[in-house]
This record gives sequence, C-alpha cells and structure tokens, in this order.
Amino acid sequence: MSWNFVRSPTRFLQETFRDFALRAQLEEYERWWEERGKAISSFIDRLGTPWLRMFDRFGNRVDEIQYPPEYWEMLQTGYKAGAVWRVFEERTLLPFYLFGYVTSFYDPGVYCPYTVTLSTGVPLWKYGSEAVKTKYLPPLLRRDGNAWQGATWMTEVKGGSDLGASVETVARPQGDYWLLRGEKYFASNVGADVAVVAARPEGAPPGVRGLALFLLPRRLEDGRLNYFIRRLKDKIGTRSVPTGEVELLDSVAYLLGKPEWGIYLILEVLNISRVANSIGSVALAQRAIQEALAFSEGRVAFGKRILDHPLLHQQFEERVRTLQLAFALAWEAVQLLDEVWLETPRYSGRYHLFRLVAHLAKYWTAEVAVQTAKWTMEVHGGAGVLAEYSVERLLREAMILPIWEGTPHRQILDGLEVMERREAHHQLFLHLAPYADREALQEMDERVRSHLALPPEEKEAQAEGLFGALAEFTAACALRRLYTRS
Ligand SMILES: Cc1cc2nc3c(=O)[nH]c(=O)nc-3n(C[C@H](O)[C@H](O)[C@H](O)COP(=O)(O)OP(=O)(O)OC[C@H]3O[C@@H](n4cnc5c(N)ncnc54)[C@H](O)[C@@H]3O)c2cc1C
Repeated sequence: MSWNFVRSPTRFLQETFRDFALRAQLEEYERWWEERGKAISSFIDRLGTPWLRMFDRFGNRVDEIQYPPEYWEMLQTGYKAGAVWRVFEERTLLPFYLFGYVTSFYDPGVYCPYTVTLSTGVPLWKYGSEAVKTKYLPPLLRRDGNAWQGATWMTEVKGGSDLGASVETVARPQGDYWLLRGEKYFASNVGADVAVVAARPEGAPPGVRGLALFLLPRRLEDGRLNYFIRRLKDKIGTRSVPTGEVELLDSVAYLLGKPEWGIYLILEVLNISRVANSIGSVALAQRAIQEALAFSEGRVAFGKRILDHPLLHQQFEERVRTLQLAFALAWEAVQLLDEVWLETPRYSGRYHLFRLVAHLAKYWTAEVAVQTAKWTMEVHGGAGVLAEYSVERLLREAMILPIWEGTPHRQILDGLEVMERREAHHQLFLHLAPYADREALQEMDERVRSHLALPPEEKEAQAEGLFGALAEFTAACALRRLYTRS
C-alpha cells in the first residue's frame, strides 16, 4: 500500500475528496509553509514564551507582546490567504477548516489565532448592533497583511469546566455600552484587538444562565488600553500563540445578543473552536505519521529498513486507517456545523445532532492526536526525545488538544446531556443509517438506550466506554459516507 498521501496535507485532502474547493490556494499556502513557515514556526517554538513589554520608556502601560517580525509574517500569511475573511465572503465555514487543516499540519498553535478571530467575528456579525459591527468587523477581515485579531476569553482562575460557578467578572450597564470588572486566567491570543468575553451582568441569576457575552476592544476611542495583560503563561506547547492573564478594570464592552442568551452564544463560540480543535488534531496526527514514515524509511535495523519489518508495517497500516477515520469524524462535524452555524436560539434538532457529533469528534480526535504523537516518538527511538528532531514538539503540542476547548470529561458529559435532553442519538442513528451496517447500528442504538436508562451516578461513571465506542462507530460510518461521495 502506498502511503504517499500522508506526506502533505493537500495530498491527503485530495486522496480524501478527489477534488476540493480552494485547491490551488491551499497548495500555494502549503508551499509557503514548506519554504518559509516551517523554519519560522520551529524558531518560535524554540524561542519559548514571548516577552511582555508592559511599560514604555516614560512608564506608561503599553502591554505589548514582543515577537520577532517573522512571527507576524507567519501569522498574516494565513489571514491574507483567507483563513478568516473567506467565511464572510463565501458564507460558508469550509475555507476556515480547510486552511486550518494545512496550518495545523505545520503549527497547531497558529491555528488558534485564526480560530479565535473567527469565533469573535461570527458572534459579532450575528449578534452585534449595527454600529458595533460596522466599527469592528471590517478590520478583522482585512486582506492586506494588517488584519485585526480576535480572542475568546471565558476561563477564570477558579476553573474552565464549570463556567456557571467560576466566572466572577461583573458587567455594569452604562447607556449603550457596559463596564466589565474581573480577570481572565487563560486568555489566548492575548493582545488581540477585540475579544469576546463572558461576564455576569449585575443582578443576573447565578449559574450559566446568568452569563452574557460581550465584545471587548483592546483600545478606547482615545487610544488608551481598555484591558491589561498581567503576565504571559509559560507553556509546553502552542507557543506560537501567546496566552496570558487579563485584567478588566471597568473595561468598555458591548453586549452581544440578549443578556439571557449568553450561555447559548458562549456555546456557539465553542462550536467553532471545538470543531477547529478536531481538524487540528487530525492534521497533527497526519504530520506525526509523516514524520514516522520519513524516519522509518531511512533507519535500518536487523538488515532492513525498520518500515519493512512486519510489526511496524502493520502499525503504519493501522495508524493511517485511524487517521482516515478521525478525519471523517472531524469532517462530519464540519459539515453539520456548516448547516447550522447561522441558527439563533431556539435551535433546530439538526443543531443538537451537530452538538453530539462535535463532542464525539473533539473527544476522539484529540486522543488520536496524542496517541499518534506518542507512537511517532517511539518509532524514532531515542532520537524521538531529542529537541533537534521535530517529534518531541508534536507530543508537546498534542497534549494541549484534549484540554483546551473543554476537557474529555466535559465532552463526554455534555454529549450525554444532549442525548438525554434532546435525544440527539435518535437523529444520529437516522443520519448514519445509509452508511451503517444494519445490525451494528441496532446494537449501538440498544447500547445507548440501555446506558441512558442507568441510575444517574452509574450513567455518568460508566459513560466513557460508551462515548468512545459511539465515536468510533460514527467515524466508521462517516468514512463510508465520505468515500461514497468522493
Ligand atoms: C494553552 C491553553 C490556552 C487556553 N486558552 C484559553 C482561552 O483563550 N480562553 C479560555 O476561555 N480558556 C482558555 N483555556 C482554558 C481551557 O479552556 C481550560 O483549561 C479548560 O476548559 C479546563 O478548565 P480548567 O483547566 O480550569 O480545569 P478544571 O475545570 O478545573 O478541571 C480540572 C479537571 O476536573 C475535571 N472535571 C471537571 N468537572 C468534572 C465533572 N463534572 N466530571 C468529571 N471530571 C470533571 C476536568 O475535566 C479536568 O480534568 C486555555 C487552556 C490552555 C491549556
């Protein structure tokens, strides 16, 4: 079997789809990464955490993130190519996920700025007032190398899983804007020109129902800083996106949508980024297999290339198969999101089907990324742990994928909830039926039903086995669907 298609992200897309939108643009983008981006990305990773310049020479707060100029070249190349603006021009999310696949093959950290910028632009476009939209959306869509960036800040110091209990940032109304006071503990793409931020309007009820979503500009009309960066996080991976702590000291912000819709809007933001995480995870797994392939073609042991030893050969077969399954599952989530992303509350049944598939995809693909990166390191033997080979970086990058955008526990429990409360599994089985073995489908349906009938504690405690099996089953059907179409 030829595995040549794992050597390049666009070749993998071509193998999967036969033909796909924006092929020429994506190939050009890939060429840029090969010729320039790869070296810049590896330099940025080795450089480690960027430096935060907090004060200018006169002692004024400036809170600038200091990166070498090449960093901005790397970042703006994707913005210029259309990782974000094409979504608004073409009214489809597909370009964002296709560019994201190529980006993440080379640097999953850089996909984060594009993701959070899109996740800022979409709620602004859907829910912002005309005045706010007119002011802040066009700069996010610039194509001239000076695109503004967005960010999505929900998590506070008490934790990210239970936002209803941990978000303590308070919002006070001031006419047509609000003042936010509080702190964000994990703020990726910090330094962004605008961010969407979760806060609780004064007097709102406790729990997630009392949260609202706001648009927060970095600067006020007179140029003063509107939020402050306390410090940057020193991270094991995704070093090509700065993550910091943010202080909101009566920061001016604009409400998006109705206050009581806040939690729905927060979930809409997460929908985009969880699917992006799934696409990024698959791209990272492909990169890991590509690195393993290149190494095992050159390394000789016991008289032949290690690739030609039956045990390793078989492992390659299985890894490539898992990669294809993972891509099919992630792409299923992409397609469903592309159907429902313009919906507003109250959502359709299709939206809840999407949510279930997105939880399955986020959960399963991130685990595939981690396991594939670990295996690639093993294939490299001792060389795998050396910084001069690129595979130790893959494992560091991969370890973040299951955690941000909601941990595996969160995906499993939210997936369980959407099955219980919205019966999304019925929709899922109807959706998959044309591509499923009838008996296997019945068995899975039966397994889900009996699981949902368990007493609450047991249902939660035993959920992981079911969720993993449902993810693999969905992936297998999605792969059949993909190949039937292409
Ligand atoms: C590099 C990086 C960048 C990030 N950037 C951003 C950002 O830009 N914006 C943002 O808002 N957030 C960001 N985050 C935060 C991220 O979303 C959170 O780390 C994540 O949601 C988990 O929250 P936590 O770390 O506070 O863990 P906690 O919520 O404290 O959870 C700790 C552990 O408890 C488990 N747990 C919690 N509840 C349950 C339960 N009911 N059952 C079983 N187990 C449970 C969790 O799964 C986890 O394993 C970032 C995180 C990282 C690592």
